Amino acid sequence: MPQLLLLLLPFAAASGWYFAYKHYHLPEKSSASEQAGYFKGLNYLLNEQPDKAIDVFIELLEVDDETLDIHLALGTLFRQRGEVEKSIRIHQNLIARPQITEETRFSVLNELGLDYMRAGLLDRAENIYLELEAVKSHEMAAIKQLLAIFQQEKEWLKAIEYALKLEVISQAKTPVILAHLHCEMALANQQEDVNVATNYLRKALKIDPLCVRANVLSAEISMAAEDYKSALKVLMKIDEQDPHFTPVYLDMLIDCFDRLGKAKQKFDFLKGLQATHASSLVFQRFVEALLVKEGRIEAVKFMRSRLAKSAQHNHLKLYARLALVDSVDAEDAFLCGVLKQLDDDISSFQCQQCGFTSNNLNWCCPSCKQWGESEPCLA
Ligand SMILES: [Zn+2]
Repeated sequence: MPQLLLLLLPFAAASGWYFAYKHYHLPEKSSASEQAGYFKGLNYLLNEQPDKAIDVFIELLEVDDETLDIHLALGTLFRQRGEVEKSIRIHQNLIARPQITEETRFSVLNELGLDYMRAGLLDRAENIYLELEAVKSHEMAAIKQLLAIFQQEKEWLKAIEYALKLEVISQAKTPVILAHLHCEMALANQQEDVNVATNYLRKALKIDPLCVRANVLSAEISMAAEDYKSALKVLMKIDEQDPHFTPVYLDMLIDCFDRLGKAKQKFDFLKGLQATHASSLVFQRFVEALLVKEGRIEAVKFMRSRLAKSAQHNHLKLYARLALVDSVDAEDAFLCGVLKQLDDDISSFQCQQCGFTSNNLNWCCPSCKQWGESEPCLA
């Protein structure tokens, strides 16, 4: 409660200033009624009834050029503090005033739209921004908000429409977001009509040839239809699109190789990959392939040479598993047990925009809402 009182102090001070201003500029009668209202508000404040105090002060403060900024600043302040009901009340009160100009009304509507978005009242925000979209001075801001709203509502077609409108009005291409919106449309249609879904993925890749997600979704559709050849073809493109994602989908790739019975191609692929990737998962999958192809002695030899060059605890763990697993020596068994307790590879993802980390891959960052900013950070 003391925080609220502190928050209201500037407003009370401003009201005091305004009261003094009115006292010297307006007839005595008006000044006296305002004086009564001012003390009434102050009384509510002192009795720790800030909601009633706000109502009184808002009522007291006439809306004109000199006080409008105070109202707007207070509304923004409440919204930033998460007290959206109060900011909504302030902005609704402003809009109801007949004396405000049309341009001011639009500015307040924009603020009210932000309040509704913050409160999760997306339908109301949508109506406001659809109105503001027709106003030249607010068009771009309204389009941006509508794009955000349609994404939150998962209305992907409308989101695509507004992303395209934004490209036109801002004269800037937004391939990443558009490609992801097409991927969302593919997902929405995947169950009902695979061809429609595939078309959306094709469009996504046309818009953004670096869209890893489009190839992954395409591979998933092919794998569900047991078309591993097509799946392998698109999965192989990921390393060219963004090599950071190769380890993330490595097991899907290996699955395709195995189902197609392409052991040699799988081995060559993993051999090439481990030479260029620092990921310990890539290393592990190559060692597993080496074990199958050339046996334990060769696999252990390869690992010893790698460990001699650079000692990584994940490599050591794998080495111990392979080299000591059949040992009857008590010391070896102990070492194996300890190494097993070491942390596994922790696959996590970090948003390059805001730093949000997660164990799951979020194509749209839950924190900053940016598409395609999460990158794997593999141990
Ligand atoms: Zn983020």
